[in-house]
Amino acid sequence: MVPTHTLIWTAGVVASPLIATLGAETVRGRLAVTSRMDLPGHDGVFALGDAAAVPDETKGQEGAVCPPTAQHAMRQGKAVADNVIARLRGQAMRPYAHKDLGLVVDLGGTDAVSKPLGVELHGLPAQLVARGYHWGALRTGVAKARVLTNWTLNAVAGDDFVRTGFQARRPAKLKDFEYTDTYLTPEQVRAQVESGRPGAG
Ligand SMILES: Cc1cc2nc3c(=O)[nH]c(=O)nc-3n(C[C@H](O)[C@H](O)[C@H](O)COP(=O)(O)OP(=O)(O)OC[C@H]3O[C@@H](n4cnc5c(N)ncnc54)[C@H](O)[C@@H]3O)c2cc1C
Repeated sequence: MVPTHTLIWTAGVVASPLIATLGAETVRGRLAVTSRMDLPGHDGVFALGDAAAVPDETKGQEGAVCPPTAQHAMRQGKAVADNVIARLRGQAMRPYAHKDLGLVVDLGGTDAVSKPLGVELHGLPAQLVARGYHWGALRTGVAKARVLTNWTLNAVAGDDFVRTGFQARRPAKLKDFEYTDTYLTPEQVRAQVESGRPGAG
């Protein structure tokens, strides 16, 4: 552990390198989909979340796309599911639009900042809002119980410390954590399909 008074940690969000291998139009590495999240020129293909540059209809400015956040990814998942069903039924697909109602940032312990509906909060009130929001967003009872237990234990026993590569000699990349350079080429996929052995290496 390096003793320090101030620690500033930042991490960006990028689309998976897989996107660049698909031969489709991209916007800063994300698939250039329509506001209905289908991919022009690729019939029946939809994309969402970090992988897609979904036009932000609420901004009213040309070229604006939804930021890569979980807020959008989760809502876009539901919207894409509805659009896939609509398309299969021959009905009209609906454009995605969501206006954020605020932001929450959990900085650990009682440190947090929140801005629900434009009200600026910090410290414990902000943490209650942040954790309440994140807890409510968890999909299963097991996940809720696990997270609540963890928060309670941390409140009593102190936060866990996580070392994030202080000793690393080079900056970590996405491919260090995921097998992002092991995709099959279109030719390899075709050969596997033709040989009737999908999934074989
Ligand atoms: C440090 C950090 C903090 C963040 N904090 C916030 C926050 O506070 N609030 C917020 O709203 N958003 C936050 N985000 C952004 C948020 O995590 C993402 O926008 C969101 O997870 C996007 O969801 P997704 O489903 O599009 O992609 P992901 O959640 O990245 O899911 C993609 C999945 O695909 C898998 N995958 C990749 N390649 C392959 C492959 N070839 N085969 C099979 N599976 C594959 C990946 O393992 C992953 O599980 C944060 C991101 C980071 C990195």
